[in-house]
Amino acid sequence: MRRAIDLATQEKGTNPANTPIAAIIVRDGKIIASGVNRTAENCDATAHAEVMALRAAGQAVGDMKIDGATLYSTLQPCGMCTFASIWAGVSRIVHGAGRDDVHEMYFEDRHLSTMDYIRDAYKQDLTMDGGILAAECAALYFGPDDDVPEDKQANK
Ligand SMILES: [Zn+2]
Repeated sequence: MRRAIDLATQEKGTNPANTPIAAIIVRDGKIIASGVNRTAENCDATAHAEVMALRAAGQAVGDMKIDGATLYSTLQPCGMCTFASIWAGVSRIVHGAGRDDVHEMYFEDRHLSTMDYIRDAYKQDLTMDGGILAAECAALYFGPDDDVPEDKQANK
């Protein structure tokens, strides 16, 4: 998670407006891929850090499936990234800041959350651990009570 925080801040700085979210994928004790949020730069709503890392992992291993891998993300993955992880065969998701640590703008659904998607998936061996270095990760993002202009909130 420390490496993910470093990647986020090296690539995107520490201003929450620049969405410094990073993800790292580890398999067999080795980092096989990483990614940072590129939604604004790429004009691509799917370019979340986790999706960028999953795309890089697929290229790195030459297979869309990365069974047994662990995905680390500085922020709890949204539904899209959770499902992408399931499709890719990820076995464990580890996140830093959780949904309650940050502004609601980071999530697409009012009630469904990462665990709901995992719980209902056909894939049975996916686990999730949250809150790793949560305070450090949360400091990179808008807080639950921050007054964020609506035009800066991608989920509105
Ligand atoms: Zn996402």
